[in-house]
Amino acid sequence: MLTLSKPNFIQESVPLKPHNSFRFQATAGYFAIIDRLESLELALKWANSNNISITMLGEGSNLLITGDIDGLVLINRLQGIEIEEVGDQVQLKVSAGENWHQLVSFTVEKGLAGIENLALIPGSVGASPVQNIGAYGVEVKDVLVSVQVMDRQDASLSWIEAKDCGFAYRDSHFKGAWSERYFITAVCLALSRQHELKLSYGGLAKGLPNDPSLQQVFDEVCAVRAAKLPDPKVIGNAGSFFKNPIVSNNLYQKILDEHPDVVAFSIDDSNWKLAAAWLIDKAGWKGFSRDGVGVYEKQALCLVNHGADQAECLLRLERDLKSDIKLKFGVILEREPVQLGCLPSF
Ligand SMILES: Cc1cc2nc3c(=O)[nH]c(=O)nc-3n(C[C@H](O)[C@H](O)[C@H](O)COP(=O)(O)OP(=O)(O)OC[C@H]3O[C@@H](n4cnc5c(N)ncnc54)[C@H](O)[C@@H]3O)c2cc1C
Repeated sequence: MLTLSKPNFIQESVPLKPHNSFRFQATAGYFAIIDRLESLELALKWANSNNISITMLGEGSNLLITGDIDGLVLINRLQGIEIEEVGDQVQLKVSAGENWHQLVSFTVEKGLAGIENLALIPGSVGASPVQNIGAYGVEVKDVLVSVQVMDRQDASLSWIEAKDCGFAYRDSHFKGAWSERYFITAVCLALSRQHELKLSYGGLAKGLPNDPSLQQVFDEVCAVRAAKLPDPKVIGNAGSFFKNPIVSNNLYQKILDEHPDVVAFSIDDSNWKLAAAWLIDKAGWKGFSRDGVGVYEKQALCLVNHGADQAECLLRLERDLKSDIKLKFGVILEREPVQLGCLPSF
C-alpha cells in the first residue's frame, strides 16, 4: 500500500488529560479533532497506509486511561441534527459528536418523548450505542432505529439496524467484536409526541406530581442525578465504575440468608441482578480514600480521582475492592469503563 503523508490537522504527542473525565495523564502519539467526515476519511487512510492504530473517543467520560496511547486518537466532534416525521414517530438523525445531554434537552423542548430519563448522562451521541447507555429503566436501544458507521478498512459508510448491534445491559458489538472495525458517525432515533413516560424506576415518581409533563420528568432526573453523582468538572470520575453483577439463584439465596437487606432484582427464573453499590457500601468501602483516589461518599458505585496524576492508584483500589467483595459475598465485580493505553506494572 502507498504510504501517505500526514494531514496537517493531525498533531503529534498530545496530552490526553483534558480528554478523559477521570483526568488521568497520558499522551497520544498522534491526535486530531474530527468535525467533518472528509477529515475522518483522510485520517483513516493516512493511518492505514502507515500501519498506525486508531482510537476514536467522544468526550472521554467512560474511559480508564492507564498509559500512553501510541497510535492516533481521534476526538469525534461531527455535528448536525436532522428531524423527519415518519408516521406517528419523529425520527432524528444525529451526528456522533453532538453532546448527549444537549440532545436530550433539545428533544424535551420540542415535546418529543423517549430519552428524557437519560438526561444528564455525560458524553457524546456517538458513544451512546457503544455501551447502550441506560438510566431509570430506559436504554438507548429502546429508541434506536439504526447506527451509521464508517468501516475502518475502506472508509465506506453504511447504516446498521439496531436489532443487529448486539445490545445488552451496558454492552453491544461496538464495545466488543466491532470495536476494531467501525467508527460511529451518526445515529437515528425514533421519538414520539405521545408522552409514554416511564416513572417506576429509582424512585423517580416520588419527586413528581401526578401526570407530570415531559419537562418535569427531565428536571427531576437532572435534580436526582446532580444530588447523588459526582460532577466530572469538579471531581474526576467515569460514572459507575462497576456493572451490577448478575448471579445465580443459589448465590442470591446465600447472600439473602446472611443479609436480608440485600438489594436485588429478579432477571429470570434462575438469575438475579445485585446492586453493586449495595455490595460496596455493605463491605464498608463507601467514602474510602487512599493515594488521591477513592469511593465517592454519596454513591458507592463511583470511583473518584481526588487529584492523582496516573491511573495506577485507582487500579490498586479496584483490585483491593474487588477481592474484598469476592471474599465477603462470593461475587465478582466487572468494570464498566473502557480501559485504554499501556498498563502500568504494580
Ligand atoms: C458522572 C457520570 C455519570 C454517568 N452516568 C451514566 C449512566 O447513567 N448510564 C450510562 O450508561 N453511562 C453513564 N456514564 C458513562 C458515560 O457517560 C457513557 O458511557 C457515555 O456514553 C460515554 O460517552 P463519551 O462520548 O464520553 O465516550 P468515551 O468515554 O469517549 O468513549 C467510550 C468508549 O466508546 C468508544 N467510542 C466513543 N465514541 C465512539 C464513536 N463515535 N465510534 C466508535 N466508538 C466510539 C471509545 O473508543 C470508548 O471505547 C456516566 C459517566 C459519568 C462521568
